[in-house]
Amino acid sequence: ILGPERYLLTLDEVAFTYPERDVMSHKYTFGHVAVVGGSAGKTGAPVMAAEGALRAGAGLSTVIVPASLNPIFETKLTEVMSIPVPDTSKGHFGIEAIERVSKIIAEGKFSAVVVGPGLGNEPETFEFAREFIRNCKKPMVIDADGINALAESPEILKAKTQEVIITPHIGEFSRLSGLSKEEILRAPHEVASEFAKEYGVTVVLKSGRTVVATPEGKTYINVIGNPGMATAGTGDVLSGVIGALLGMGVEAEDAAKFGVFLHSLAGDLAAEELTQEALKACDIIDFLPGAIKRVK
Ligand code: AMP
Ligand code: MG
Repeated sequence: ILGPERYLLTLDEVAFTYPERDVMSHKYTFGHVAVVGGSAGKTGAPVMAAEGALRAGAGLSTVIVPASLNPIFETKLTEVMSIPVPDTSKGHFGIEAIERVSKIIAEGKFSAVVVGPGLGNEPETFEFAREFIRNCKKPMVIDADGINALAESPEILKAKTQEVIITPHIGEFSRLSGLSKEEILRAPHEVASEFAKEYGVTVVLKSGRTVVATPEGKTYINVIGNPGMATAGTGDVLSGVIGALLGMGVEAEDAAKFGVFLHSLAGDLAAEELTQEALKACDIIDFLPGAIKRVK
């Protein structure tokens, strides 16, 4: 309706609704999401992603985190599990973690991986993230510093054969694509679509008007949500929501479209109750149940 292959992200267009929960279903029926992230000073980001995943319907959720920070995660988390892996002395991932993390993901029963929230931007962390993304064979959401790590070698994405969704905001997409923010804002559908087609990934280009672009060349624009969501951590919640959907076996296009819609709807319900001014990211997690009720 917005031109060839360009659509408005309405409830009809979102199409996906949660499947009925069979009486004999168990937690593995609904997937196990792994969140790889966290660094000293940024332990909240992976927690929000992992808790967002559980609230979006994942059966299990685990954070894989720098070992020196694990006691912090153990204290913050209740339903979410954590797996500590060897880190640098400064509390972030370095290349020494790669073997262990890749093995945990390859051998564990994870159905989707979210990589990036709170990773931080140390050069050795970027090196770890690139290597991890190269090795990982599970359906994947790449967010935040996971995207920044790819800026110097985005071609890593071309070799991926599983479902991959990247969730950059405008600044992250600028670094990844080499385009200026102005160029992106002038034609968000076109630039997101070009990238999605060239690299074979689903792009969620986040802003007040988030665009979802598929490798096949379709684009969708989201028009719900509100500026109260322009606050720290809301993107981390989104990565977890989309990760949960991927982990349930939803294909990338539907997971991205439905995830964006559900996250924005939760943001609208939260703002209605709490005001846009007071809204913070964890409120979006708390209002996901209300959003789910409305789409079911
Ligand atoms: P991030 O920048 O990674 O924390 O992601 C921010 C999240 O909040 C994305 O899902 C954005 O789409 C959303 N967001 C940011 N600003 C606005 C806005 N003005 N209106 C609606 N949603 C927004
Ligand atoms: Mg972010």
